Amino acid sequence: MIMFKASYFDGKRSCGLPVYINLQGATIYIQSEDGLPLLSVPLRECEISPPLGKTSRTIRFPNGAQCETVDLAAVETLWKNHGGKSLMNFVNCLESRWKMVGICLIGLVIFVLILSKYAIPLASKKIAFSLPHHLTDELSRSTLEILDYKYLKTSVLDDKVKNELKDIFFVLHEEIDPGSYYRLEFRKSPLIGPNAFALPSGLILITDELVEISQDNKELIGIMAHEVAHVKYRHGLRSVFQNSGIFLLISSLFGDVTSITSIGATLPTLLARSGYSREFEREADQTAGLYLIQKGWSTKPYQHILMRITKNVHSYPEESVFSSHPIAQERVFDLQKLEDNKIIKDTLIKN
Ligand SMILES: [Zn+2]
Repeated sequence: MIMFKASYFDGKRSCGLPVYINLQGATIYIQSEDGLPLLSVPLRECEISPPLGKTSRTIRFPNGAQCETVDLAAVETLWKNHGGKSLMNFVNCLESRWKMVGICLIGLVIFVLILSKYAIPLASKKIAFSLPHHLTDELSRSTLEILDYKYLKTSVLDDKVKNELKDIFFVLHEEIDPGSYYRLEFRKSPLIGPNAFALPSGLILITDELVEISQDNKELIGIMAHEVAHVKYRHGLRSVFQNSGIFLLISSLFGDVTSITSIGATLPTLLARSGYSREFEREADQTAGLYLIQKGWSTKPYQHILMRITKNVHSYPEESVFSSHPIAQERVFDLQKLEDNKIIKDTLIKN
């Protein structure tokens, strides 16, 4: 038998009546302090509030009446008889044990890290590859408008030079990414100097200054192959979605919903600014390196122009689409390693 004190609310009056709650067998008996029986209800028909720290607990009856008590130990026994267990007790246990709360926080951090390292990149890749062409084109067009306005001028290169490079580019993109749409364009950029970038629509843009410092078309072939790889593997879109995915995750965790709605409108700026991760740059360099090796050429011309770009580049604006390429020495080292790999070289040249 369990007996404990409580306040009884009959559902009609707001003030509570002091009562005794008495559990006999599977039935709860409520009686006034004078011993007057008020109510008897089978325990299974009662609703007992789950434990929440040291707050009082409530027992609700089918007729709308309820009792409140601070005798937590007694209610806990009722709760167990009632079959209340597992999840809410576990939550209560967590709340009353700071150590457990700490462990949960660490768990949350690990969860977010796994999400940002694996789940978000995977989801970004899926979205980037399934984005309709008209959206990719629109996004690229708006991004180019920003870059044209801020950094680029009409090209003054000779048409003969441009057409020769366009012919080379046509063969190159058909070999690296057959059947996809690509276009090569030129811009003068005294502000940035020698550089190149790719937009997700397949537009590859080379500055006049880059053409001017090149000493051999094979140097530019390396650059063009690198930029085509960025488009082929959707590096630009994936970078935007990855960066905004992590941003959205943090925003939603901390309840800043306004930032979520603003993402769509700022995509072109995000694309211009997002840049590429080292992993994406390596993948693009590897594609360019393998393309040159497969052609039976060396990666040396490509290595040379990378070093020359680093020496001649005028400035790196905030738009990382220009500036995220890793340090030239590191890239040259990786290209040389690729070329020295006899197995890769022999396999590619045979095919
Ligand atoms: Zn790149």
